[in-house]
Amino acid sequence: MSAQILVLLMSVVGLAYDWVCWRLSDRQQREPTPDIVADVYDADRYAEYLQICAEECRAYLVYKAFDFAILACFLYSPFFAWAERAAAGNVYLVVLITSLVMCVIADVEVFVYDHYDTFHIEGAHGLNHMDGREFVRDFLLDELPSDLLVLLLYEAVAFVGEHMAAWTDGYTLSASGASGLAARLVLGAALIAFAAALVRYRVLRRQYTLTPLEGPLRDKIMGFTKDSRKRLAKIYVYDESKKSPELNAMLVSLPWRKELWIADNALDSWDERTVLAVVSHEIGHLKHRFDLVDAAGYLQTAATVAVIAALIAHPSVVFEIEAWVRASYGLEGCNYVLLTSTVLAALRPVTKLLRALGNAAKRHREYEADREAVRNGYAAELSEFLKEAARKELVNVDPHPFVEAMEDDHPGLCRRLTAISEAEDRKISGE
Ligand SMILES: [Zn+2]
Repeated sequence: MSAQILVLLMSVVGLAYDWVCWRLSDRQQREPTPDIVADVYDADRYAEYLQICAEECRAYLVYKAFDFAILACFLYSPFFAWAERAAAGNVYLVVLITSLVMCVIADVEVFVYDHYDTFHIEGAHGLNHMDGREFVRDFLLDELPSDLLVLLLYEAVAFVGEHMAAWTDGYTLSASGASGLAARLVLGAALIAFAAALVRYRVLRRQYTLTPLEGPLRDKIMGFTKDSRKRLAKIYVYDESKKSPELNAMLVSLPWRKELWIADNALDSWDERTVLAVVSHEIGHLKHRFDLVDAAGYLQTAATVAVIAALIAHPSVVFEIEAWVRASYGLEGCNYVLLTSTVLAALRPVTKLLRALGNAAKRHREYEADREAVRNGYAAELSEFLKEAARKELVNVDPHPFVEAMEDDHPGLCRRLTAISEAEDRKISGE
């Protein structure tokens, strides 16, 4: 089997998975909604919700089919051999050319899909407030930094690949030496992730205009943080109203600084108790303490170090994969973008499962944050807010358990309201 066939095969598996998720969701939506979320939608609004689901699903399938066709043409084009010749065999230049072209193609596809979704689907249902200019600006602010990050990561892989023989004295490191090197590589990746978080924060600050929140509401919110080990550096109101009708508040979390952002939409349409309910939830995130789920995350990092160390100690498998990718594309040298993306395509089921585990951890934290709002006495207000937000934003109130487990980083409304009500019952009975 050639590398191209493997990549296309994994794409087909991905499409089949998307189709299964869609079928499960579709079947779930035909069932009567559970009592706890039965009053979210009236018949007309629910019909509108089903319509937007169908429209988005159709647009997504067209996008995926188009993406698959482009991928197939691209993989069998002479582009990679041309890139190698154009770069005169310089691996870093090969990475630059390959990565840039792939990013531009992906960006054009995503732009067309996002544009259609934002203006033709969401716009038709009143879910978009952006004009074309704002959309393009946001798109560039989202995509350019992530393209740059992808390029940086590929160049880092090339750098590691080119220096590995020298760092390991021709692959003769002992097990402990290989573990030390693997740990340093993972640390390097963590530093890149840290820089990326910083860039994302700067981007967010450019996408919105922030106004510091002052007055009695600010004092009340700060009161919630009294018993928190982490300090809230600042509370801002951000102008979400220029983009969407979304009602939200979020804890913007950097390793050295925590900020609370509240959407202007929310302050305009909520009474004070609702604001305090939602803010309590965000303070719940601020108060999060190290738990078993975090420990599992560290375990996962340790396992990654072990796998990389094993590959450093026994590199023949990597050499074989590299030679196979090179032969598949008829190349003379290593194209690190192709090598990395082929390996990632083969590992997609594994990364999908790891992402599902990550989502489970994130949902666990959402439940934990909701319990803080219940502790502060806002169970009813938080539940009402979640329902109103779902109604306004046309959200799936009862996602299929499999789809939720695999795809969602927030609990579905049905399970979330149930957990809030159970926490409230436990609070009343004094447990
Ligand atoms: Zn949350």
